[in-house]
Amino acid sequence: MTDTLQKFMFEHAGVRGELVEMESAWQQMQSHQTYPPAVQTMLGEMMAAAALLSANLKFNGTMIMQIHGDGPVKLMVVECDSELRLRATAKLADDAVIEDHETLKDLVHAHGHGRFVITLDPNDKMPGQQAYQGIVPLDGDSIATVIENYMQRSEQLDTKLWLAANDKVTRGMLLQKLPKIGGSESQVEDEAEAWNHAVMLGDTLKKDEMLNHDIATLMHRLFWEQTLRVFEPLQPSFHCSCTREKVGDMLKMLGIDEVESAIAEFGKLDINCDFCGKHYGFDPVDCAQLFVAKTLAEGILPPGDSKH
Ligand SMILES: [Zn+2]
Repeated sequence: MTDTLQKFMFEHAGVRGELVEMESAWQQMQSHQTYPPAVQTMLGEMMAAAALLSANLKFNGTMIMQIHGDGPVKLMVVECDSELRLRATAKLADDAVIEDHETLKDLVHAHGHGRFVITLDPNDKMPGQQAYQGIVPLDGDSIATVIENYMQRSEQLDTKLWLAANDKVTRGMLLQKLPKIGGSESQVEDEAEAWNHAVMLGDTLKKDEMLNHDIATLMHRLFWEQTLRVFEPLQPSFHCSCTREKVGDMLKMLGIDEVESAIAEFGKLDINCDFCGKHYGFDPVDCAQLFVAKTLAEGILPPGDSKH
């Protein structure tokens, strides 16, 4: 299984591109959660898109891509850090019945209130620094179009995406027109023509073709007549950043009343990470400790460690 992200540039054309494929990371992501096929496809496409956009950013931190839906799918989240480590999850409405043919609009924008949110959360925040967040309506009939529209609005960059996913693999391609290089009118025309030509080649890609061929084959089929500069391939991977500390933090945010009433009802709290399925248990002592500890770290010793 290969998980690869390949960057390339068209020589003398002012167009850059990336191809990505993920099998191992995508399957690890699905190993603890089962989604209806229509949701699986969308989440897989979002994952490919997140890797493509992250690899394109000069940014040290985590990109969080979220869709807040108003239909049977309530939330889809994909996170990708600057080392191309990804995790993803989706939350469906309790009563959701999802047919295979349902579209993006059916799933998350049924009443026109769906939102697409991109957050850039830097690793080393300066004091008082906020994460950057961009929110746009879900205008578009596919994940690719929604992101293209977002890029056009927020970055004023011509960007085109082609995405495809099934239960085994997710693949994607990004093409982007570089900011203007040429000064003269004829250079500008040449650049526009090179961009249009690259997009036209990209538009010949069919979903089936993307699902059934590795990115080296796709690149050759599409661009064999072009002179490409190809960079050292990168390796996206699955990684979940959940920790017992973060779960404890979340419980503290819920507040002591909420946690105590849950303990009274269930005896203890069993929390599973939405992203990786890892289980975190908090018994009454663990929970009490959370709220008496002077510092967060004291309250969340793993089970078995001595508590004072
Ligand atoms: Zn996790």
